[in-house]
Amino acid sequence: MIYDAIICGGGIAGLTSASFLSKQGFNILLCEKEAKLGGLVNSFEHNDFTFDGGIRAMEDSGIVSPMLRQLGIDIDFVKNKVSIGFEDKIIHLESKTTLEEYQNLLTKIFPQNKPEILKIIEEIKKVMSYMDVLYGIDNGSATLNWTEKIGSCYY
Ligand SMILES: Cc1cc2nc3c(=O)[nH]c(=O)nc-3n(C[C@H](O)[C@H](O)[C@H](O)COP(=O)(O)OP(=O)(O)OC[C@H]3O[C@@H](n4cnc5c(N)ncnc54)[C@H](O)[C@@H]3O)c2cc1C
Repeated sequence: MIYDAIICGGGIAGLTSASFLSKQGFNILLCEKEAKLGGLVNSFEHNDFTFDGGIRAMEDSGIVSPMLRQLGIDIDFVKNKVSIGFEDKIIHLESKTTLEEYQNLLTKIFPQNKPEILKIIEEIKKVMSYMDVLYGIDNGSATLNWTEKIGSCYY
């Protein structure tokens, strides 16, 4: 059998490459040394609990959804829940307003550090606004048909 491409490793990178290349009609051989595909994107069971083998969550980053759409894959994502705990106080991060709750909690526990806490919260707000711009918009250019470019190099 003659292959157009041989991909070593069936982690998310290898699987993504194989999916895009196959969709373009290339004949692919994907080699994985483990019994299961997925690489670090895996989970395992122990004592009736499911553990993450590697990744805990996936950020869309304006890239994952367009790629899935391009591949014709429809997946329901479960929202990633993030909680921060200090001693017996636990804050569940639900929205941007939770940041104020976080600020109040920090200043209550560390009143002597209020100026530093306010500075950090301002920085977090800045980063969050950058992320809104960077990650909130589907990044079309990231999913330009690079497999066509590979195809033209290949032939
Ligand atoms: C503890 C941890 C937590 C993480 N959390 C997150 C997270 O929450 N969100 C996030 O986006 N990213 C996270 N990452 C990063 C993310 O897991 C990796 O960036 C991503 O999974 C890498 O994918 P990959 O396909 O490049 O490599 P891998 O997942 O490592 O896949 C490589 C594959 O190649 C196979 N392989 C290796 N050598 C050979 C060979 N010679 N022949 C055949 N097969 C071979 C391996 O068995 C494996 O299946 C985390 C990483 C770790 C370690």
